[in-house]
Amino acid sequence: MRKWIYTPLDLGSKVKAGTLGLDIFLQIYFISVGDKILFIDGGWLNEVAADFLSYLAENIFNDSQYKIYLFNTHSDWDHAWANRAWIESLPSNWSLQGIYASRTTVERLRSSGKEGLVLPDHFIEDGDIFDLNGLKFHFLRANAHCPGQLVLYVPELKSLWSADALEYPWPFLHSVDNFAEQLRDWEEWLKLDIGKIFPCHDDRWRQDIEVGDYFRHYCGRELLLCNCKACLELKERLGKDREFIRRVLVTMATSEGRNFGELLEDEEAWLARENKVDFIYTLREWQIESLTFPEKNLSWFYLRAYYLAWLGAVNYLGQELK
Ligand SMILES: [Zn+2]
Ligand SMILES: [Zn+2]
Repeated sequence: MRKWIYTPLDLGSKVKAGTLGLDIFLQIYFISVGDKILFIDGGWLNEVAADFLSYLAENIFNDSQYKIYLFNTHSDWDHAWANRAWIESLPSNWSLQGIYASRTTVERLRSSGKEGLVLPDHFIEDGDIFDLNGLKFHFLRANAHCPGQLVLYVPELKSLWSADALEYPWPFLHSVDNFAEQLRDWEEWLKLDIGKIFPCHDDRWRQDIEVGDYFRHYCGRELLLCNCKACLELKERLGKDREFIRRVLVTMATSEGRNFGELLEDEEAWLARENKVDFIYTLREWQIESLTFPEKNLSWFYLRAYYLAWLGAVNYLGQELK
């Protein structure tokens, strides 16, 4: 069995909650009240999911019978491909009550072409509420990262499980190309009473930062505020500063070819370009050192702004080229 990096979350006395780091990549969250456990996403490999289910059953939930609920936040492979483990590898003192997702998520999984997936069998949508022995989870839409994505807000805990809508605490753009949608999500969330944010994909807390510090400094409400503010500032800047847009594009082309390649394939506007290869070479020549890749010595706020710049530039240019 693997050694799971288990991080308990302090959410008050009646709630047992934590996160399991999956291959230093994905966070699987679980929240339990009484005899019910809700899992937020399940990872991508059935064997790995089976391992962490038995880890939890042996180490944390070994005292009685449990009713289990699994929620797929969205249809991405790393969040929804291991559902089978909840059917076939559930510990004997647990019983599965349902796998939840939005209709769009289920449709996207169905049409993904991946064989052997277990599809969610309970549909939920924006505005629905899930009751975990009295603890109310509100499902909210968050379409920007992936159509059909839902995130979870718990007013009683002032907590938001933001899935990949805040993948890492800062926005990450491998599939996000919709500036307006992202902004809309954050603006909606800012109206809520949120103290803590739990994003997927972030391993900072396992390195040099204490868990408590991590949530205090990086996953609080200021994260939403900062993102929203940066978004609005960028929106304004992108409207008038063409050199800035060019720099962002250079960064896109040189820092992570994978992302840029995906955009070339996905974005209608880019497809309209006649010679994409030449265009990429041109962008490489324009490389500007300070914006190449923000690996070190940069603040988290800068990193967020950096990714937001991508987002904004793609959106802006996508519209302009149409
Ligand atoms: Zn995702
Ligand atoms: Zn993800």
